[in-house]
Amino acid sequence: MSATLQAIRGPVLNPLPAAGVGWLPDGVLVGDDRGRIVAVGAWDEVAARLNLAAAGVPRSAGLILPPLLDAHIHIPQHPIRGRFADDVGADPPGGRLLASLERNVFPAEGRCEGPAHARHVVAAFATDTLANGVVGGAAYMTVHARATRIALEQLADTWSVGLVLMNGRCPDYLRTDEPALAADVAALARDHGRRLIVTDRFAVSVDTPLRTLGVALAKRHGLRMQTHLDEQRAEKTLIEDVLYPDAGSYTGVYARDGLLDCEPILAHCIHVRTEEIDMIAATGSAIAHCPVSNTLLGSGVMPLDAIRAAGIPHALCTDVGASPTTSLFCEMAQFLKVHAGRSVAATPEEAVRLVTTAPARILGLDDRLGTFAPGMEYSFIEVAHDSATTPPTARAAILSLLRMTEAELDAWRRADDPQTLAVRTLRDSGLDWGLGLQALDADVRATAVRLEHRVRRVTRQGRVVFTAPESSPR
Ligand SMILES: [Zn+2]
Repeated sequence: MSATLQAIRGPVLNPLPAAGVGWLPDGVLVGDDRGRIVAVGAWDEVAARLNLAAAGVPRSAGLILPPLLDAHIHIPQHPIRGRFADDVGADPPGGRLLASLERNVFPAEGRCEGPAHARHVVAAFATDTLANGVVGGAAYMTVHARATRIALEQLADTWSVGLVLMNGRCPDYLRTDEPALAADVAALARDHGRRLIVTDRFAVSVDTPLRTLGVALAKRHGLRMQTHLDEQRAEKTLIEDVLYPDAGSYTGVYARDGLLDCEPILAHCIHVRTEEIDMIAATGSAIAHCPVSNTLLGSGVMPLDAIRAAGIPHALCTDVGASPTTSLFCEMAQFLKVHAGRSVAATPEEAVRLVTTAPARILGLDDRLGTFAPGMEYSFIEVAHDSATTPPTARAAILSLLRMTEAELDAWRRADDPQTLAVRTLRDSGLDWGLGLQALDADVRATAVRLEHRVRRVTRQGRVVFTAPESSPR
């Protein structure tokens, strides 16, 4: 092998941008000295073509796949991940989402006003996401410009970060400094460009004057936006019947105020009516689909087939802290479970595309990341899998990655299973705290433990940036 090349040999999963996942049971990935891929393919073919000697090419520590991307995650909630809804009671007024924000989330976000604490939180977030193979995405920080700057400076340039807008139904210590907002956005945009995302918390917490100011600033500086939409029924009722009775719908609020014109990433989109889906599809919007969060908060299930039919770009995202883990493998497993028997599109192959190629496209990183092809970054993760032998197909390899068997997946399609019944209620009406939600909660948390920290090594542009401790599962 030429001195300017580097390579790794092993089983390669290659999610493809248009459709499907390539599978190379004995594959090789070859990079140049600039950290770019020069070849990916079957070992026999590439080794002969590039004159690679087997002895000179290291074997991988597991399945090789592109690094993962998370297009919806909350940095200041990382310290309380999985404890998002603690102590809110069985059926709080206004639903579990609004009660959790007040009880647990806002205090955690308020603590990030202090720069030392913010630095500590961002550092722990960076370490933990990398350990789960996640190298970039779109994150919410807080209402604090200083904390947002710390996150933009400390995180890799593949992370976009949101300065959060919020001026209603929130504590006084967590309100946007509105007189300073234009200058704060200008300064952050000057230093970090489109990595800054103008972030409307959600329509409950942001009034129209602040939202339209955010839209104007986004347009002035060429930035995109992000927000939450149609997550819980109680929240939708509050917005459509009480706060914005003239907007026509929850989505109508964002359309009317111009947010949908700013290429937003819209998290959740569960309780969307047909006309709302049409409004989203008519703009440059993308959807962050968060099955773990949507299950644990009893929110519901995103209508996957309708979103796909409308051609709306979407990706699987963790929404940490509502999820107990930054592992997108946990999200892939929950995606397969909540859509099992309902959507033929919810396949293991599609799940892996929704954490690689799909978010890369949404985040504008698809010229660097998401799939293996010549010219892309020589960046990859190596992940432990449960098969004693090399899996025969991409589907088998992905299920092995998720530590899931075909029989277990099949159980989620059976109508008589208590967990399946709970998922059906979740899908039809959302779930309040009770036996059904407790069963789903226990399953998600066990899955999170099983799938966390399965990544053995992360390589970015030819440089190893994470190696699992020897004591981790292999
Ligand atoms: Zn969120």
